[in-house]
Amino acid sequence: MQYISSRDKNLKVSFEEAVKRGLAPNKGLFMPENYIQMDKEFISNLYGMSLQEIGYQVGKKYVGNEIPDNDFRNLCNEVLNFDIPLVKVKNNISSLELFHGPTCAFKDVGARFMARCLGYFSQKNKEKTVILVATSGDTGSAVARGFLNVPGVDVIILYPSGKVSEIQEKQLTTNGGNITALEVNGVFDDCQRLVKTAFTNFDTKGKFKLTSANSINIARLIPQSFYYYYAVSQAKNAETVICVPSGNFGNLTGGILAWKSGLPVKHFVAATNINDTVPQYVKTGIYTAKPSKQTISNAMDVGDPSNFERLNIIFNQNYKEFGETISSYSFTDEQTREKMKETYEKYGYILDPHGAVGLLGVEKYLENKNLEGIFLETAHPTKFLDVVKSVTSVTPELPETLQACMKKEKQSIKIENNYADLEKILKDRYL
Ligand SMILES: *Cc1c(COP(=O)(O)O)cnc(C)c1O
Repeated sequence: MQYISSRDKNLKVSFEEAVKRGLAPNKGLFMPENYIQMDKEFISNLYGMSLQEIGYQVGKKYVGNEIPDNDFRNLCNEVLNFDIPLVKVKNNISSLELFHGPTCAFKDVGARFMARCLGYFSQKNKEKTVILVATSGDTGSAVARGFLNVPGVDVIILYPSGKVSEIQEKQLTTNGGNITALEVNGVFDDCQRLVKTAFTNFDTKGKFKLTSANSINIARLIPQSFYYYYAVSQAKNAETVICVPSGNFGNLTGGILAWKSGLPVKHFVAATNINDTVPQYVKTGIYTAKPSKQTISNAMDVGDPSNFERLNIIFNQNYKEFGETISSYSFTDEQTREKMKETYEKYGYILDPHGAVGLLGVEKYLENKNLEGIFLETAHPTKFLDVVKSVTSVTPELPETLQACMKKEKQSIKIENNYADLEKILKDRYL
């Protein structure tokens, strides 16, 4: 499989190139040159197939022979070593729990797959790779953790001192091994600026590759299609409606790629918080990027979703075509809180704010329809403890992986908000 830029279809690169580059030239995003097709036999054997087998079968269509079969099977087994169960919440609606990975968020799936692909290429080429990530809290931990113990790759995370929650800080600073946390005396934008300066200014003298682990990397998108097959496999129903709580729309794009490959899904719903750029687009055909507004489902506070560019190509820049496959609704924080409260009180199920937006979306679409629905629950409720506590008055227990990391000692290196500090660390370690 070759990969093309969303802004120039004549530009084609290998999977390896696309993964290593992250962003395509002209600031386009990499897309598979053709949509993969899963054969009828795969689809009819889907019910009961394991997640690891699905990942291997689907993934190898994207990776081709760039990673040998055996290595790729091992890679999928390692990446997908936690369950993604479909759990019934109420009559006709189930939750696809994507939060059983090491950092309890769905981004674990994409981050782990990308990390191991980069690790494989780094070893094959006998290159050392150093990844720099700036994080405001959540995404950084999934990415960093994804690279834990991946040979040939080191990760340096920069986070703003005192600006992340206790759990987040523990997740960033207790990994050890090939992961280093730098605690920057500044805010998130400072961290990001330091990282950007390093990319343009630091001379690696050819001794290693300095790279980012960008959220739009194709290797994060591909594995985000695996669990849609697994959801259908568990639902044993080809007429299911799937609702995705969306911010940058990468998760949904994974689902649309699965659908394009022949996965039977009745309809998709993209649910957002009040950052409603896409719901407005589906309604009016006009896409207007807006500054993001803060909400309680803050991982979805995105006013100009980066993966819209990919979706728009898939649907031939046609909003009607888009709308035939994807309905899109936006919900307020008040509706989200209300849904969390009701779902706990009536059904005993604790939602996180993002999952609650997902449930709102699927319910809205299913109104007066005799269909089954699934929403994606993208984070464990303890990751948004304050909201969950204030709405339900219960304190859900920390999952084991988070308990374990809360017990560990924080290890960080404090640096000032200046590039010289970061440069010195890179020089001392790698030159
Ligand atoms: C990132 C994130 C989302 C949004 O996913 P996109 O792929 O950006 O649409 C939803 N929920 C949680 C918990 C997230 O971390």
